[in-house]
Amino acid sequence: MGKVIGIDLGTTNSVGALLEGGETRVIISEEGGRVTPSVVGFAKDGTRFVGEIAKRQLLINPQATVHSLKRFIGKRMDEVDGLVGLVTYIVQANEKGMASVRVNDDVYTPQELSALILKKIKTAAEAYLGEPVTEAVITVPAYFTDSQRQATKDAGTIAGLDVLRIINEPTAAALAYVHQRQGKARIAVYDWGGGTFDISILQVDSDIAEVLATRGNNVLGGSDVDHKIVEWLVSVFEDETGVNVRGDTVVMQRLRDAAERSKIELSSTTTSQIHLPFLLSDETGPKHLQATLTREQFEAMAADLFDSTIEECQAAMHDAGISAGDIDEVIMVGGSSRIPKIQTMVEELFGRALNKSFHPDEVVAIGAAVQASILGGDTKAVTLLDVTNFSLGIEVQGSRMAILIPKNTTIPTEATRLVSTVQENQSTVKIHVLQGESDNANDNVSMGQFELHNIQPGARGEPRIEVHFNIDTSGIVRVSAEDSRSGVSDEIEIASPMGLSEQEIATLQEGLDGSNNEELEALRDDVNLHISSLEAKLITKGDQMDVNDVQRINNALADARAALESKEPRELEAAIGTLENHANLFPA
Ligand code: AMP
Repeated sequence: MGKVIGIDLGTTNSVGALLEGGETRVIISEEGGRVTPSVVGFAKDGTRFVGEIAKRQLLINPQATVHSLKRFIGKRMDEVDGLVGLVTYIVQANEKGMASVRVNDDVYTPQELSALILKKIKTAAEAYLGEPVTEAVITVPAYFTDSQRQATKDAGTIAGLDVLRIINEPTAAALAYVHQRQGKARIAVYDWGGGTFDISILQVDSDIAEVLATRGNNVLGGSDVDHKIVEWLVSVFEDETGVNVRGDTVVMQRLRDAAERSKIELSSTTTSQIHLPFLLSDETGPKHLQATLTREQFEAMAADLFDSTIEECQAAMHDAGISAGDIDEVIMVGGSSRIPKIQTMVEELFGRALNKSFHPDEVVAIGAAVQASILGGDTKAVTLLDVTNFSLGIEVQGSRMAILIPKNTTIPTEATRLVSTVQENQSTVKIHVLQGESDNANDNVSMGQFELHNIQPGARGEPRIEVHFNIDTSGIVRVSAEDSRSGVSDEIEIASPMGLSEQEIATLQEGLDGSNNEELEALRDDVNLHISSLEAKLITKGDQMDVNDVQRINNALADARAALESKEPRELEAAIGTLENHANLFPA
């Protein structure tokens, strides 16, 4: 078995890690970073570039720059209504009704685009180790549904990785803790990233990490905090200029970018100046945005979001049957946990100083690497006892939900229930699998359904059909049904009706390998990097320049974009040279 790596596939950034000789190590990206932005950019010819380079074109070409994929992975279109306004690209249903991404008239599943990010981390790990990497442990938020977990696993498979285990992010953080410290402790993992919030309470010892309770919100992240600032900036601009910029994608992306920078700045300063020159131009001339945001104002704007994370923490303690004083350590995970107000609120809630010995951006990947090393047989086993976050069951007569596996059950687990027919000689029964807490079937999430045919004829209520649920260590659900008299049976892995079939995954995997002309890809990345840099400079410096120079640069940019279509390395190299020469036209 080669080295198994751990990957934190994040909403904003992704991190790969591994264990070497018992020491944890973050995998450095090709660009030299410890994190890889979870961003995929597209050039006009469909060429894709991933990570840092893609992130740089977000401002210039927002419609063709895909970020926050984790918000959409494994979700149906009707589940993401409130989220599509938070991204710069088009989200639409694919033929199965799943939320998908449209760029330049092509539709992609979040799985296949996430696979590009995973592939980049896999490649960086291979470059570091000097050997192929084919196996991984990938983390997901504790609150990910079965379909989101399955889709994440599929992304790994498309990237050429055998995903040995999907583990919950807070559980991974706890594993990193177990790896570093010996002894018994009850820990709280407060995990607030770019797109999701999770809180988990765990009991750990040197060989066990048991989740006592977990709560969270899949649609509450740092970008929601940014959104509060964006809304404020939109109204400041409207008050000053009378122009509502909500419909302008490029302007909105500049505002989002400025809002995030201001938020991050306010983690270390008490006032932030937001200055966006030439935000837009109309017949009355260019319009600029200038605003000052204080930390106090910012905290008031985002107070409801901050409070709701604290309420989730209280609910988790309630579920675990403990109080704040029973917690020995509080570990902060995710970029948004750096917000000073959050740190104060969490400290006040638990009545103790936060454990700051872990890097909030890396601890989850480190934990995934510990699990990877355990599965690879290189590290002493730690038993992970995780729990289900939703109740699972089936629809029964009267549109009710019968629960087979209640919320907070330790996984892996299984359960069986006998059902029967409601009509004479009924030969088919429908098994409708549900997830949720309501007694009323329609109020819960439908996870899929299947029919069991050829049931042995009999009086109503006579056939005995065993419905069996199984949840594996990755939290993935399988449901089977068997007529005990005839022996006929059927089974589904629950996400497959909506997710990708094995055939589709194989096709996408081939596509990823086929496009792997590494030299051309690297050159195209370089051309794109130069294009983005020139375009960014044109935005900030164009108005101070001679119009002829601006025209020359625009022509060079157009030629470079055309060169991206080429399969000739020499043409791409020439385009890079031309762009470099034109960069000298900008004033210093
Ligand atoms: P993650 O998903 O863990 O990578 O977290 C990314 C989120 O953390 C983004 O919304 C960032 O804007 C936010 N973030 C990163 N650094 C800081 C900081 N110093 N203060 C506030 N938010 C931050």
